Amino acid sequence: MDTVSLQSRRIVSGMRPTGQLHLGHYHGVLKNWIKLQHEFDCFFFVADWHALTTHYEDSQIIEESVWEMVIDWIAAGIEPSAVSLFLQSKVPEHAELHLLLSMITPVSWLERVPTYKDQQEKLKEKDLATYGFLGYPLLQSADILIYRAGQVPVGEDQLSHVELTREVARRFNHIYGREKDFEEKAEAAIKKMGKKNAKLYSNLRKAYTEQGDADALETARELLKGQQNLALGDSERLFGYLEGGGKVILPEPQALLTPASKMPGLDGQKMSKSYGNTISLREPEQAIAEKIKKMPTDTNRVRRTDPGDPDKCPVWQLHEVYSDDAQKQWVQEGCRTAGIGCLDCKGPLIDSVCAELKPIRQRAEDLSAHPEDVRRIIEDGNEAAREVARDTLDEVRAAMGLSYK
Ligand code: SF4
Repeated sequence: MDTVSLQSRRIVSGMRPTGQLHLGHYHGVLKNWIKLQHEFDCFFFVADWHALTTHYEDSQIIEESVWEMVIDWIAAGIEPSAVSLFLQSKVPEHAELHLLLSMITPVSWLERVPTYKDQQEKLKEKDLATYGFLGYPLLQSADILIYRAGQVPVGEDQLSHVELTREVARRFNHIYGREKDFEEKAEAAIKKMGKKNAKLYSNLRKAYTEQGDADALETARELLKGQQNLALGDSERLFGYLEGGGKVILPEPQALLTPASKMPGLDGQKMSKSYGNTISLREPEQAIAEKIKKMPTDTNRVRRTDPGDPDKCPVWQLHEVYSDDAQKQWVQEGCRTAGIGCLDCKGPLIDSVCAELKPIRQRAEDLSAHPEDVRRIIEDGNEAAREVARDTLDEVRAAMGLSYK
């Protein structure tokens, strides 16, 4: 695969190491990563610097969680041979790019990111009026742009972060993508596409720049993605030239929208450590059973003979995740007619959750017994990530006049 297609198929995603992973992480993020790992060139990282933005006062938890989180990822089905797994702080290029991008990012862009105010409201017990917290969406932009990722898997609530990343990349390319003799170099690059494609590119560019034909722009981009013979620099020039601008040094990523996790917590709220309603990925079977048995149910079912309403019961929400149609039918009828008791209703769920977590727990035990293997996986991933990050940063420094050769 050529470099440009590889870039557009590159995915970057991270997770903060702030405690044990639970079923919410598994259903909300990891199952999606597992699906993506064979379809894309995936870079998954432990976001330890991001964890510091909210946990700078209790950073101990970060250190404790890093390796456990990697074990959970692999135990859940992430294959180290298929993806690059790494630790953010071991790829310091993220920090340098963050610093450089901070020079061109208006403070108002960061202040208007919706999660900035939301998180301060939600996490009132923490002092989040810090420079680091304001800047964390820009650090995320650097995390993505340093790999020139084409796609970023996000939920609806994170779309604004991808939008910020796109704006920052656009601004960067606008300011620093202008090279001397840009047009001459772009015209020379067009010729390298071969007669037929060069003509097609020029016509499509004309249709977009002169008539604003958005379809022509899209077709031209697709045409460029398929050009095996172009060097990366030429390809970047031609992507920029299409829109009349300069060289595209930091390509704008697209959001790969992932459905919101339906994983409810044990109390019916979203599963989250801060609500104390989780089942961890390595929860022993007895603890799983106890937690599910203690789950609250429809409060109208005081006695076994009282009929209930699954729509008012958090246990039903778990059935929606774990049960097939026949089982759901059994719950609906049994609950509404008082044909089953709540403990009967919870039984199949205990079995399903235990069955889901058993292989994960066993793999995690094996991995925990060989910590050196886990460390080696991360060291290899750090190196693979740095190799890509270094290339981007070399080009960024050169564009900004900081290469001092
Ligand atoms: S029978 Fe099931 S769905 Fe109905 S109230 Fe009890 S636990 Fe909830």
